[in-house]
Amino acid sequence: MKVRFLGTAAAEGWPAVFCNCENCKKAAALGGKNVRTRSQILVNDDLLIDLPPDTYLHKLAYGLDLSKVHTLLVTHSHMDHFYPMELSMRGSCYAHDMQSPFLDVFCDEKVKESFLLSSGFEKFGDEVYNAIRWHVMPQFGSARSGDYEIYAFKARHAFQEKALFFLIRQGEKAFMQCNDTGYFYEENFAFLEKIGIKPDFVALDCTNGKLSFGKEGTHMGAAECEELVTRLRKDGLVKKDTVFAVTHFSHNGALTHEELEKHFAPLGVAVAYDGWETEI
Ligand SMILES: [Zn+2]
Ligand SMILES: [Zn+2]
Ligand SMILES: [Zn+2]
Repeated sequence: MKVRFLGTAAAEGWPAVFCNCENCKKAAALGGKNVRTRSQILVNDDLLIDLPPDTYLHKLAYGLDLSKVHTLLVTHSHMDHFYPMELSMRGSCYAHDMQSPFLDVFCDEKVKESFLLSSGFEKFGDEVYNAIRWHVMPQFGSARSGDYEIYAFKARHAFQEKALFFLIRQGEKAFMQCNDTGYFYEENFAFLEKIGIKPDFVALDCTNGKLSFGKEGTHMGAAECEELVTRLRKDGLVKKDTVFAVTHFSHNGALTHEELEKHFAPLGVAVAYDGWETEI
């Protein structure tokens, strides 16, 4: 299973779209791994996690063929994770020779609602509209799409909806994507134990960087990530060689890529960056 981080920033991007803070200026000056677009992950070349406004930029930057994507998992309706109008370009005269004519979308109720609102406001062509198949998933639900098994966890985030994060298994390999969320609810540890899958790779929300809002916060920072990694290892919910990475960084978290790497090295946790591809 191939996991590719197309974007690794929080909602505002880093440098942030309208910002002039020191952290944004520093990221712009340093360039490279310090420049981060809105979070999105591509698994193999046919399963996409989230649809931020930077999707088109990702297609250009990495030369992707997004017509191959047959499965889209959307974690929640915040704009950095779901820009519904982009789907209006998927088919008809806007997209020829699609490798996957249908798109199966797995999400919570509010994501689907936001799509229905947008597509009602600026009408989609029937052909495009009908090629999208919606699958509303409950927290702690499971589903199948092609040869992927999909498990939905309960995010500590966006309380106006039942926000999700996902574990995806294909064959013997499993990838767990944990953003956006604060520290795990106890039910998440229990669900992971119940499904009996030890992920090979776990990506964690580290929005807050050096800031900490404790275990009740709706994003994690370095301190909460450390605590979560330690707990998952201690409870035997991951393998001995499970790879951990942190992602979804906000400029307010302040730590540069190099500082994050230095911070997380003793814990054996990698720091994701835009374009990072890893085989699990
Ligand atoms: Zn986000
Ligand atoms: Zn800034
Ligand atoms: Zn969010």
